[in-house]
Amino acid sequence: MRIDGLSLDFFRNYVHLDAAFDPNINVIYGDNAQGKTNLLEAVAYLSGVSHRARYDRELIQFGVDHAFLKGHVFARERDFLLEAELHRGARRVLRSNGVKLKNGGELSGIFQSVLFCPEDLYLIREGAAARRGFLDDCICQLRPRYAQALAEYKRLHEHKIRILRDSEEKPSLLDALDEFSMSMAKAGALLIHYRAHFIKRLCQAAPAIHGDFSGGRERLTLRYETVSTVTDPEAGPQVIFQQLLQHQEEHRAAEIASRQCLSGPHKDDLLVEIDEKAAKSYASQGQTRTAALSLKLAAREIFQQDTGEYPVLLLDDVLSELDPRRQEFVLNRIRGGQVFITCCEDDRLPQLLGGRIFHVKNGTVR
Ligand code: ATP
Ligand code: MG
Repeated sequence: MRIDGLSLDFFRNYVHLDAAFDPNINVIYGDNAQGKTNLLEAVAYLSGVSHRARYDRELIQFGVDHAFLKGHVFARERDFLLEAELHRGARRVLRSNGVKLKNGGELSGIFQSVLFCPEDLYLIREGAAARRGFLDDCICQLRPRYAQALAEYKRLHEHKIRILRDSEEKPSLLDALDEFSMSMAKAGALLIHYRAHFIKRLCQAAPAIHGDFSGGRERLTLRYETVSTVTDPEAGPQVIFQQLLQHQEEHRAAEIASRQCLSGPHKDDLLVEIDEKAAKSYASQGQTRTAALSLKLAAREIFQQDTGEYPVLLLDDVLSELDPRRQEFVLNRIRGGQVFITCCEDDRLPQLLGGRIFHVKNGTVR
């Protein structure tokens, strides 16, 4: 899987860009704030993932009303022209070979990417939401049904919270509560089922990568932590559904009092341990980076096992922070797929890596 060409109009700080990429290694270098991350973000966007922008309007150039992205992608032995039109105050339009797509999930079904950036240290360090986000991003790209269930679950969750919040003033709202609990348990059980399956595969791939990374000196372990209600996340959607539903029924009064949904996949976590100690509390800077990178590279391998092709790997500002041995390890690990690597102006990586080298300056690329 690869992206051969990218055109941008009014995307972030690019007024216009036409770039042709190398099938293997693309190095993007330049000073700070010139557009390196923006370029990676555009590639990620065409794979249905937005890692930085909460709203599409943030991607549109300041003072302009619309932005266009176009990518020539080769996947599953076929060529695709993927397009995104973003408009301020109107819905975006996505197309594949001229045919309109319903949502970003359909882009992910065609083209996949895995991004690793400095913010990913939060994946290890921060609260559970960061790790749930990682799981969601990965599984959404692999399973369209998960993306649907996730959107549905988020919608139900927000609605149920509104009911719980407003019921004090308007008690009749509580009439709908049981129905919401039932639907949330159904969508939630599916999410937990998929997450359990994905984490099982991560548990196979990530520790091996981390072990190689640390020269066999450290052991990474991962564990899926669901709310105590769900006794076995691998038990299958039906069993999980019953347990989630039962918990909501038993805690109806508590949910109304606290105005919160007390059980479900929005409470999940992925526990990451290094040598049996919680990485979140004890890992050093280097260990944190290594663990986060191991998770991302493991995800890349799972994608490859699933689709038969490596997703495009986007490494933003991370390689230069590793020592030469670890750099070499990463470079050996990632052979076989297309990679985009950003680094700073005075870095020696461009000479080291080869491939195609792009110099970015103020939204233009040479
Ligand atoms: P660094 O090395 O610091 O990470 P970078 O080259 O990765 O820098 P980018 O994150 O790509 O920098 O951002 C480049 C510039 O784009 C920034 O100055 C940013 O303010 C600008 N920018 C971001 N969003 C928009 C937008 N919607 N319209 C115009 N410019 C934008
Ligand atoms: Mg950047």
